[in-house]
Amino acid sequence: MLRFESTYLPAGTILKLNINDLLVDGVGGLILDLDNTIMLPNSGEFSEEISNWIETALDKGLKIIIVTNNKDESYLDGVEATLNKYNIPLIIKAQKPRTKNLKKAIEYLNLPPEKICIVGDRVLTDIWGGINVKIKTAFVEPLLGKQENILFRALRRLEKVFLKTA
Ligand SMILES: [Mg+2]
Repeated sequence: MLRFESTYLPAGTILKLNINDLLVDGVGGLILDLDNTIMLPNSGEFSEEISNWIETALDKGLKIIIVTNNKDESYLDGVEATLNKYNIPLIIKAQKPRTKNLKKAIEYLNLPPEKICIVGDRVLTDIWGGINVKIKTAFVEPLLGKQENILFRALRRLEKVFLKTA
């Protein structure tokens, strides 16, 4: 069976992903998923905790780009306005796990693949995509997953079957 191994598997959301651990491992750039990884869907804003995490990562020298499969252009215009305050670019309609837009993100980060980590809450988009372009991966719990609808939660649980655990 198809199985995907995540480089990092923090026990929780992105807030549990230790920035210093990434730096020690030589990671210099992050490709972050948007929905449920760094923002609640349709919120358009960072929570204070996420904003602090991102600012800490930037302060410590990590380059960041957001890559989302979301196609809702009018919503994403608002997200882009928020990201502009942090000078973080956004790639939309990315079609992860396809590699085209992930390769664009890697080009922007301008680092060798082993120095880049993708962070996301979906195995079959974010983690598979990361593996496809040979970068490090961090599978995280979704932000406030309890508020997701039942169908999506079931899908997420099903997807976890594809995650290889030690
Ligand atoms: Mg997501």
